[in-house]
Amino acid sequence: MFSFLQRWRHPSAQATPEISPERWLRLEERLPALDFLMPEELEKLRGLALAFLAEKEFTGGPDFQVTDDMRLTIALTACLPILNLGLDWYGDWVGIIVYPGDFVVPRRTFDAAGVLHEYDDVLAGQAWQGGPVVLSWLEEETPGVNVMLHEFAHKLDMREGEEANGLPPLHPDMSRHAWTAAFRHAFEDFRRRVRHAEFRGLETELDPYGAESPGEFFAVMSEAFFETPLLLREHYPDVYEQFRLFYRQDPAPREAALSLESAADPTQNTL
Ligand SMILES: [Zn+2]
Repeated sequence: MFSFLQRWRHPSAQATPEISPERWLRLEERLPALDFLMPEELEKLRGLALAFLAEKEFTGGPDFQVTDDMRLTIALTACLPILNLGLDWYGDWVGIIVYPGDFVVPRRTFDAAGVLHEYDDVLAGQAWQGGPVVLSWLEEETPGVNVMLHEFAHKLDMREGEEANGLPPLHPDMSRHAWTAAFRHAFEDFRRRVRHAEFRGLETELDPYGAESPGEFFAVMSEAFFETPLLLREHYPDVYEQFRLFYRQDPAPREAALSLESAADPTQNTL
């Protein structure tokens, strides 16, 4: 039997699938970044997620069944960064491959002496230029880290056939100079902080993986923009400002308002 999303994809079934409000709420609960959306934005996100599902193809890794709930959760996450940009931003690829947990990618490299090194990389996600997004389905996410958001951010960075270099195509009203200055300064500062922290056996508040390259910095800071916007704005206000212009969203004031609300209401469970 087809699942309801597959039925929807079938040409003979034109009706939009009915997803109950309870089901939406249950799926949205595991995505804390959605707390920073206004009700009308959440409604828009749901519509965009359904349109996303209609044009993307999901494949499970070996022996792994991708459920409708997983598809919907991935679609909601994927559409958050493009909420005010539009689905066209994902127009140059179709496939999403989902693995259970981390997956192993065989690597082959030649060193300067021409010696071949073969090894396995354990990854949680991968985004191919013009090709599919590969994700691991994690039952629990670490707060502030979101593998799905990370990979979809790479996809935006790689738009128009560019490699993931931390410079996505900017909107006409944005300044490339301002973007580059903000990101270069923040990346250098972050690399320094990560080196210091590692030297002292400490941890940085933002995911140290962002120090790997400008492309990873863009993806990791994009995760932070949506998941922990106040933290990003506090550390790198210029990067936050460029993201505000690029993503056309401003989640930090919402996070601040929410934390004020929960501080004012002692009965609320703040987790
Ligand atoms: Zn990455």
